[in-house]
Amino acid sequence: MDATLSPLLKRQHLIDPDVCIRCNTCEEVCKPKAISHDARQYAIAFDACNGCNDCIPPCPTGAIDSYRRVETPYTIAEQLGWESLPDDTAPPDAPSVRDTSLPEDVARIVAEATRTSGPVPPPWSAAHPYVGLYSAEKPAIATVVGNHRLTDEDAESDIRHIVLDFKSTAFPVLEGQSIGVLPPGTDASGRPHHVRLYSVASPRDGERPRHNNLSITVKRVTTDRDGKPVRGVASNWLCDLERGAEVRVTGPYGTSFLMPNHPGAKLLMVCTGTGAAPMRAMTERRRRRLPLREGGEILLFFGARRPGELPYFGPLQKLPRELVDVELAFSRVPGKPKEYVQDRIRARKDDVARLLSDPDAFVYVCGLRKMEEGVLEAFAEVAEGAGLVWPERLERLRREGRFHLESY
Ligand SMILES: Cc1cc2nc3c(=O)[nH]c(=O)nc-3n(C[C@H](O)[C@H](O)[C@H](O)COP(=O)(O)OP(=O)(O)OC[C@H]3O[C@@H](n4cnc5c(N)ncnc54)[C@H](O)[C@@H]3O)c2cc1C
Repeated sequence: MDATLSPLLKRQHLIDPDVCIRCNTCEEVCKPKAISHDARQYAIAFDACNGCNDCIPPCPTGAIDSYRRVETPYTIAEQLGWESLPDDTAPPDAPSVRDTSLPEDVARIVAEATRTSGPVPPPWSAAHPYVGLYSAEKPAIATVVGNHRLTDEDAESDIRHIVLDFKSTAFPVLEGQSIGVLPPGTDASGRPHHVRLYSVASPRDGERPRHNNLSITVKRVTTDRDGKPVRGVASNWLCDLERGAEVRVTGPYGTSFLMPNHPGAKLLMVCTGTGAAPMRAMTERRRRRLPLREGGEILLFFGARRPGELPYFGPLQKLPRELVDVELAFSRVPGKPKEYVQDRIRARKDDVARLLSDPDAFVYVCGLRKMEEGVLEAFAEVAEGAGLVWPERLERLRREGRFHLESY
């Protein structure tokens, strides 16, 4: 796998000997016969592994979900000699050839969505995500159990909260991850439509805990990026689905835009439109854990044209202030001056500067591409105003897995 792509780092799939209970499940399910063992240990042949991930869900301990970025892949003999996994010696932002757990098209979409922030490690205390359990060839089948409109009936944008039930299919997700949806039918050249990604809007225990479901927030695309009328393939199909409809799902995806798990971690969030989805997931995770008094402030900047265009506006108003401090920005309210999220960031400069200086604060930006530039400019201005050197601060935040930006 990727054996010819040196000198860039390769991502090698390995088995953690500390965790493996030697049950042989992985070797039994591995079709390319990449997994073997001796009397003590299990190993994965780098060249034989095709990244199909068939071995991941059946592993009872998670030992199989181990990776290292390496210049020269570990040999079978080396792996069989291990007592523990070797340390990951690659620097956190070292470029890897490609994330071999992702199919090409998804890797391309993800790289495009995170092009401004580049590869960023996850927060140090993030839970370990599962990635790519289901592919276009072998998707998970989910059933729509809810589809309701989040924006007002007279709003320009039709944004929907869609709940997908996975029944007995394992589909573990973390807040901030996304799923792939395969719309039915073919494109103009007769090929099956490519996968579209949607951020998960529910926390890791699902939209309804103990029901193996999750939600996504989908905006019906009716114009292209230049405003010309167009009927987006996947979004229109999803927005029109009724309860009981089946959806082919790939993923989950995302190893970086994840929330910290340790108590007291602070979250600074900025979003517009459906960029609210991961923020809802993280906020809801915190809300469900309020009785545990884990603490950690959340400051949320949320932009839309009008209140009626803002997904989750109603529920957001009901969240306790001790959980989340919300700053809304509306750009098209008749009789009121236009306001964008960057204006609210400037208005809250003291709190923003405090959080940008706080080693326990994590920044998340998600939404339309158009928002990015203004938000980064506002952060720069606020940081410089507080005596921070922004390029250095931003670089440090990224290096420490504390600055995550996803736009589409
Ligand atoms: C990491 C990631 C997470 C995402 N999360 C969400 C999410 O939570 N909710 C959500 O609704 N979408 C999300 N998207 C966007 C989603 O994947 C699709 O691109 C979007 O739904 C349009 O798909 P479509 O098939 O309807 O349009 P297509 O048929 O693919 O495109 C139709 C036209 O619309 C333009 N277009 C494509 N996407 C957009 C867009 N977002 N805004 C305006 N014009 C567009 C295209 O350039 C094209 O001209 C995410 C994308 C990424 C990369």
